[in-house]
Amino acid sequence: MKLDTLLAHAGRPSTGPVNPPVMRASTICFENLAAYQEQQQRGRFDGLRYGVYGTETMFHLEAALTALERCHRAIIVPSGLAAITSSLQAVTRSGGHLLVADCVYGPMRQFCDGHLARTGVETEYFDPRNPDDLSSRIRSNTQAIFCESPGSFTFEVMDIPAIVRIARTHKIPTLLDNTWATPVFFDAMGHGVDISIQAATKYLNGHSDVLMGVIATTEEWWRPVRDTVADLGSSTSPDDCYLALRGMRTLSLRLKHQYHSALAISEWLSRQEGVKRVLNPALPGDPGHTIWKRDFTGGTSLFGVEFEDATESMIRDFIDNLKLFGIGASWGGYESLVLPARYARTATGAAANNVSVRIHIGLEDPQDLKDDLGGALRAMRRHG
Ligand SMILES: *Cc1c(COP(=O)(O)O)cnc(C)c1O
Repeated sequence: MKLDTLLAHAGRPSTGPVNPPVMRASTICFENLAAYQEQQQRGRFDGLRYGVYGTETMFHLEAALTALERCHRAIIVPSGLAAITSSLQAVTRSGGHLLVADCVYGPMRQFCDGHLARTGVETEYFDPRNPDDLSSRIRSNTQAIFCESPGSFTFEVMDIPAIVRIARTHKIPTLLDNTWATPVFFDAMGHGVDISIQAATKYLNGHSDVLMGVIATTEEWWRPVRDTVADLGSSTSPDDCYLALRGMRTLSLRLKHQYHSALAISEWLSRQEGVKRVLNPALPGDPGHTIWKRDFTGGTSLFGVEFEDATESMIRDFIDNLKLFGIGASWGGYESLVLPARYARTATGAAANNVSVRIHIGLEDPQDLKDDLGGALRAMRRHG
């Protein structure tokens, strides 16, 4: 089955309504004690048992995502951050060492430096664009390697096949935050990643009204991660599962449209006066373009812009003069957004630290968006 067919068919009930109904439940009742005990014996993750382990709505979404991710079994959690933190808790234990790409998004860094450190796991950051740097930092107690490619602020593309080769030599699992590309544009499992994470809050749901995370794993890692999610008491609302499944039906359509708009706007922006560089791996000439072209089947709608000598007040002028771009956290919805780019970096100096703003291109007409961006650039330069 090709991707677009899969997106239209995966995880659907075989008869009855096209979409699975929203099944809300904590308690599930059984016909008699024998039926209850039989369900108990099946284990906590198979069949209707108790709402915290999911109801039919979640099982349909799980089946659809398992097909989309081409993984052993997808796991659904209440946010992208929960997908990261529960996976990390499943793969690390006290006394361990964790290697994390220096471009990961902020709350993940906070979790590693805070909570994980307190549980006795040491995090060390490595240069996302240099697999040799990663190699040199591996220790006998390294328990996992965590990547985000491209970094959702710096847009550095990581050489995942090279990293997986290194990780396998040392028998260390590779985790990837695949939120930017989604499984539509980067086949994480096919590239040998052990645990692939998606903030479904972003593209999968696509309408800026659901928080959700997806963890796709190999057979080996499914049980430890699924147990950790359950042990943490994490469960996802059936209403949110319904919305995410509905969003998934148009995922590839939205992504392709937003990718092409974002690429046209990136090309146009990179030629405008006052713009130093557009950070979008889909642009020829971008430092990550070669690897992106080799490994990805498409780009997406999130990219960075560096201005010439941008001051704080110029960035403020630019953002405040945009009319069609919302100012707010997150991305991946149908609407355009803008934010100043702020992120911490510790392993690799300030070289990639010049991003001025991060832009998300929605489903609006790209000409309207260009006009809006052009007006904001003129206003910024007039004041700057
Ligand atoms: C937003 C985001 C997350 C976290 O998702 P939430 O659902 O907001 O918790 C994780 N990784 C990346 C790259 C993100 O952009």
